[in-house]
Amino acid sequence: MKNFIKLLEAYLEYWKLLGVDRLPAYPELKNFLALDPLVPETLEELEKKIKACRKCPLHRTRTQAVPGEGPCPCQIMIVGEAPGREEDLEGRPFVGQAGRLLEKMLASIGLSREKVYITNVVKCRPPGNRTPDEEEMKACRPYLARQIRLVKPRFILALGAVASHSLLLSREPLSKLRGRIHQLEDIQVVSSYHPAYLLRNPRAKRAAWEDLQLFKSLWASP
Ligand code: SF4
Repeated sequence: MKNFIKLLEAYLEYWKLLGVDRLPAYPELKNFLALDPLVPETLEELEKKIKACRKCPLHRTRTQAVPGEGPCPCQIMIVGEAPGREEDLEGRPFVGQAGRLLEKMLASIGLSREKVYITNVVKCRPPGNRTPDEEEMKACRPYLARQIRLVKPRFILALGAVASHSLLLSREPLSKLRGRIHQLEDIQVVSSYHPAYLLRNPRAKRAAWEDLQLFKSLWASP
């Protein structure tokens, strides 16, 4: 019995570390949004919490955390991987070269960055722009879950494998996840390539364009 209580305490502590104040029931764990910690109650409060966050080692090397930006509520949300060098310096998501490409991609489907909410799975820049590790993503994911609950998007464009795997709780290759519509509760999710990947691999732009057309069809359809 003692061992069981210790195990339970460690389990609760683990969720607390993830920022989850309300422990979800088992079946809910199959849904990314179950990581929503339910607090704070406004986006402004959440952003303050993110900016002061020290839950993972990335706080030591960041210039500043980058919570995200855009209208709230907002029908459309764009989710990337993590801030890069310019985002870290400016405190805004997608402002570097990849950001400029994202703006072009959005323009091609009649959107501008002012009309969408843009954020990342991980809110602080990993050194050298490396992929965030599993512990960093675990620590940061509840913030994204909370943002989604507060922004209330109907459509999410997940850019890159990190965003797609996080939101869809999937380990399928991005090449298999893209080109399809996924459901996250009542939110429709389309996965595609991250603009930073497209800059390095221009040949993938054709597939990304198809994904954008699919994404556009979601809200353009009657
Ligand atoms: S990456 Fe996320 S969890 Fe880690 S310090 Fe930054 S805001 Fe906190």
